[in-house]
This record gives sequence, C-alpha cells and structure tokens, in this order.
Amino acid sequence: MLVLLFSAGMASASPWGEVKRPSSGPPRVIGGVSNGCIAGALALPESGPGYVSIRRYRNRYYGHPKLLRFIADMGLAQKRHGDRLMMIGDLSQPRGGLMSSSHRSHQNGLDVDIWLTLADSPAMARRLMDDRSDPDSMVAPGGDDISRYWGEDQRFLIETAARHPSVDRIFANPAIKQALCRSARGDRSWLRKVRPWWGHDAHIHVRLSCPPGSGQCASQSPVPVGEGCGKELAWWFSPEARKPSKKGGRRVEPTPPAACSALLRDM
Ligand SMILES: [Zn+2]
Repeated sequence: MLVLLFSAGMASASPWGEVKRPSSGPPRVIGGVSNGCIAGALALPESGPGYVSIRRYRNRYYGHPKLLRFIADMGLAQKRHGDRLMMIGDLSQPRGGLMSSSHRSHQNGLDVDIWLTLADSPAMARRLMDDRSDPDSMVAPGGDDISRYWGEDQRFLIETAARHPSVDRIFANPAIKQALCRSARGDRSWLRKVRPWWGHDAHIHVRLSCPPGSGQCASQSPVPVGEGCGKELAWWFSPEARKPSKKGGRRVEPTPPAACSALLRDM
C-alpha cells in the first residue's frame, strides 16, 4: 500500500492526484462525475488520426474505453473534415477521483474537454497549450455573442459530438449555444444535448452516459426535453445569470463511494 503524502499548505490537494497508474482489471465506473472514480481506466494515446492530446504533464488522460472510442470517432470525423487537429484536454486521473485544480467533475472516466481552437500540427498544439494559458475565446467580450474566432470548424465539432450516441450532454458557453440555435438547419434534435454553462468559451466539456452494465455508475438527471433554444437560453443572458456567484467559503466534500476508497488504498 502506498502512503499518500499531503502538503499542509495545499488545502485543495486530493490524494487522487498522487495516483500514478490505473488499477488493473476490467473497466468499472464507480459513482458520479463529481463524486466517483474509475477502475481499469485506459490511457488516451498522445495522438491519433485527427486529434492530439495536450497538457500530458497533468496526467489526466485516462478514461473508460467508451470515452477513448468516442475521442477516436471524433478524431476520424475531424480528419475527414479538414487537415487540422482537434486538441483533447483533460479526461480523468489514472483512477479518477477529485482533482486538486480546474475541475469538480471529470471524476469517473466519462468526461473530456475538447478545445475549440484547432491545431495545425502536434508541435503547434504543444506550443499553444503547454506554454501559454488558454487559446482564443469563441465568445466576444461582454458575452453576448460569439467572437471572430468562431466558425464552421467549431460548429462541426460540437454538432458531431452532440450526434454521437455515447454522449449524454455537452457544456458550452451560452453565446455558443445561441450561435448553434441560430445556424442549425434540418434535424435540430442534437441541440438538446448542448447545455449552456458559465465559462466554456474556449473549450467544450463532453460527458458520456453511463456505459451499459456498469451498475455502480451514477447517472445525472436527464437533460430536459426540447432544443433549449428559447426561454431557457434567454435566461443565461439576463442580469440574474450574470451576477457574480455567491458561492465561496469552504465546500464540504461528499463522502466518496466505498468502492472508490478501496480503489485508492489498493496500490
Ligand atoms: Zn471539463
């Protein structure tokens, strides 16, 4: 058993960040996206057709095989669409669990961030993302509309992801959702999966549904019916939605599922 060290100065340190490798055995999703873990996760390759995995030094490129398949499918679609590469950000840590920074979810191997800026080459992706904070925002200052960086490539990525059968929901900035609502023609049913959320202006967050047969996986409540382009979207542009959040103070971490605590101990 590995003894996990905590630095007293790091209030947000999570023992899951110290785990270097996935557990062996078959893949098993345990718990939910914001309080869960994953056994038998697989590592996303550094690159593949149509995509490149970035910020590898964070060691957050692990997921359920279903998530890796989804990324491979997206990469192939991107490759057919154009010459540039889709940049894949964080998935989960080797055994999932809470991260010490950046995300509350991404805990059970079913979440992935996809950047909306495309890279000309893996070397460019590394330059863009490993040396510098974030690439261009797809949302104009003020948040009312998309920026000049938004275009057909970005629309294609989001629609392709939303149409993928493994995808449960996608989080994107309200201005992005609004642009999609404006431009979608023909079958608009995929719009339902695109959920407005704060931030998410340079990347989208894609969440898969629980894999079949994973009894310990906790599903989120279903996405509401409808395209979500009307009143619900309008709220996001209201003063109420934009006032600074009142959250703050210390969040009490939920107790992890027992199977996750066991997974953390079993090194
Ligand atoms: Zn995310």
